[in-house]
Amino acid sequence: MGPPATAVTPPSIASPPEMYVRRATGMMMSPMSLIVQKFGGTSLADAQKVHRAARRAIRAKLDGQRVVLVVSAMGSSTDELLALAHAICPDPPKRELDMLLTTGEQVSIALMAMAIHAAGHEAISLTAGQLGLVTDSVHTRARIKTISRDRIDRELSEGKIVIVAGFQGIDASGEITTMGRGASDTSATALAAVLGATVCEIYTDVDGVYTADPRVVPQARKIDRISYEVMLEMAAAGAAVMHSQAIEFAKKFQVPMQVRSSMTDVEGTRIMAETPDMEAVAVEGVTLKEDLAVVSLLGVPNTAGLAGSIFAEVARSHILVDDIVQNIYDDGRLANLSFSTNSGDARQAEAVCRELAAKLGIAGVEVDHDVSKVSAIGVGMRSHTGIAATMFDALARAAINIENISTSEIVISCIVRSEDGLKALRYLHEAFQLDEARDKNPVG
Ligand code: ADP
Ligand code: ASP
Ligand code: MG
Repeated sequence: MGPPATAVTPPSIASPPEMYVRRATGMMMSPMSLIVQKFGGTSLADAQKVHRAARRAIRAKLDGQRVVLVVSAMGSSTDELLALAHAICPDPPKRELDMLLTTGEQVSIALMAMAIHAAGHEAISLTAGQLGLVTDSVHTRARIKTISRDRIDRELSEGKIVIVAGFQGIDASGEITTMGRGASDTSATALAAVLGATVCEIYTDVDGVYTADPRVVPQARKIDRISYEVMLEMAAAGAAVMHSQAIEFAKKFQVPMQVRSSMTDVEGTRIMAETPDMEAVAVEGVTLKEDLAVVSLLGVPNTAGLAGSIFAEVARSHILVDDIVQNIYDDGRLANLSFSTNSGDARQAEAVCRELAAKLGIAGVEVDHDVSKVSAIGVGMRSHTGIAATMFDALARAAINIENISTSEIVISCIVRSEDGLKALRYLHEAFQLDEARDKNPVG
């Protein structure tokens, strides 16, 4: 199956204008507002939870809204499928991994449609291929290129609740793809953008976005409102509550979002455009990224263009590079070049770098699998000083050695040993007084 003839461009991040047109058209077509509700795996872990999620969708429908649901695989079924794959083949072909993992979401959409049917309402389940959510062809980390709204519009106009399989796509030649762990969030925000949803609600097992992962920092405080920018950086730096690509879409297309609990009616966290008062807070949240590895190329000839060739090759292999550090020595003749990457990519990164080393006269390649990254994030960093000092001081008090530091406009990150990661996170949370109310969290 090829891409649907009517595919709408995009939500490719690069080219927004047509999407705005489609949003506007979509909104004129129907006076009813449209809501996208996304339910994560933990919110669908058993039959009772599937019924609960179905009731929430029906409630929105009875309130007069058009409802599109995006669902993940039930409970930990994606992890179980992955374990099964690795039990059968130590290095499974990525195409076949996608084929396998997408079955999890297909179970959920069918069961959700049945739950809604059992409650006396009409619903239809759709895979990415059926609705026309087209991605590139990079298996296990595909990116959305186009989404067709025709099929969804048709089903909605017949009064049905539409249930879409998250996480998955289809490429131009009909191959099944997935968009990375946690990417049902991305399916949801991209659909919300294309359909002109009034809100995209992310239902999960916590009642909002916290100043740190509440499972590991019990003092963490729920944030009522957070800017797209801070949420994006928190997600990219390890806050697993949202998939970072989802926030890229939401930010680009100004999709109003809310992260909330699937078990209660408590107001969640609104993710929205930045407001001036947000800059008053120095640090909004702290994160820990545990699944990291550092790949080091040792004794790299320090000649112009070499770093370019190295990272071009790494990029060609679709390896995501986090931070890069270069140290020059031997009177400027040689350099050590290190970069951090996701643990899942470390093996491939090492293989690519060993090949490059042989080709380019690089002395050696080392991989360190025992590193983590702690980060502090806040828009207040733009206008206030002293935040880095507070961070380094907190880590020093915890007797934690910093192996590398990187900064951007609103983020400061430190690489530490894996065994120090949790302690570092807790010390930073305390040092930035994140358990205090917003107005008490001082700027430096
Ligand atoms: P879902 O299955 O609903 O997609 P996830 O496991 O992907 O759920 O995301 C929810 C989890 O994210 C929470 O259980 C929590 O432990 C974790 N988390 C990490 N950082 C944060 C944070 N800053 N705020 C809230 N939750 C967080
Ligand atoms: N089921 C997929 C995963 O576990 C996608 C998701 O949950 O968003 O990563
Ligand atoms: Mg998730």
